[in-house]
Amino acid sequence: MSARLLAGPPAAAALLVEARRRAALLGRVPELHVIRLGDDPASLSYVTLKNRRAQEVGLGSTVHALPEATSQAELAALIARLNADPAVSGLLVQLPLPGHIDSAVILEAVSPDKDVDGFHPVNVGRLWSGSPGLSPCTPAGILALLEYYQIPVSGQHAVIVGRSTIVGKPLAALLLGRDATVTLVHSRTPDLGSFTRQADLLLVAVGRPHLISPEMVKPGAAVVDVGINRVGVSSSGKAKLAGDVHPDVMEVAAALTPVPGGVGPMTVAQLIMNTVLAAERMQAGQAIGQTIEQPGTAVQR
Ligand code: NAD
Repeated sequence: MSARLLAGPPAAAALLVEARRRAALLGRVPELHVIRLGDDPASLSYVTLKNRRAQEVGLGSTVHALPEATSQAELAALIARLNADPAVSGLLVQLPLPGHIDSAVILEAVSPDKDVDGFHPVNVGRLWSGSPGLSPCTPAGILALLEYYQIPVSGQHAVIVGRSTIVGKPLAALLLGRDATVTLVHSRTPDLGSFTRQADLLLVAVGRPHLISPEMVKPGAAVVDVGINRVGVSSSGKAKLAGDVHPDVMEVAAALTPVPGGVGPMTVAQLIMNTVLAAERMQAGQAIGQTIEQPGTAVQR
């Protein structure tokens, strides 16, 4: 058996088409604002990509590139100004921030209504309580990828490896919301394979190249590899990337996301969709700071 490859680019393109369509229905062009501090090359390339994708789908996009030495107070003042500006639909602060800045304080300073990264504690709470909010881009993008390829989720046993606040935990909440049975395992879980072998849907976000071997996968499972690990440099000078899942898992799984070209493109596409969602909610008066009633919270038992 050789697994079906769940390529990210077509699924990301479909999400971007939908974002463009919905943005065009709004009274004003949604605007994404990204704040970046310093010259970290990885941050710079992520921000450039976000900016480019936003412009490609017709969104407004502004990058605020600040010096590394910017103080926490100066950064907070810029965030407050952008929070108050009705033209700004989505706002994110690119991580990591320099050591003299308290990231938790800064992430909480972003208005939950504009928090397109979905990291604000208000949005985390809304995600777990099942009420509308903005969800973190990588996990929400994974859900969009599964939907695009019609991979079943409801009633499936989803095993997530990794419990980070940006991938593993929010992914667990989103999969529960789609009626999966969810197991979350991590660095302190003994006998990882005894859990991963039970998965109909195995989602791996650890950051260790080829951690998941074919023996750890149930035949016929769908496998989502979130890991991006730099494992060398190719002859053309580009970074060689490997996922957290060994390529031989192709022979066991029914479906597998490649690395690169799997989950990666979904993250940026979902960021664009989150910006449109934030703009839609603001226009409909459903922003959290406003008083219009929210749709009822679905209670899942
Ligand atoms: P993290 O370091 O914050 O968390 C890693 C998690 O893996 C931890 O919860 C830890 O408990 C768990 N872990 C570590 N060693 C383990 C082991 N031996 N067995 C089981 N669990 C173990 O990482 P993160 O930010 O969640 O990122 C994980 C990977 O996903 C990284 O490679 C990162 O580059 C990648 N990533 C990709 C995207 C994307 O857009 N494709 C987005 C975010 C992260």
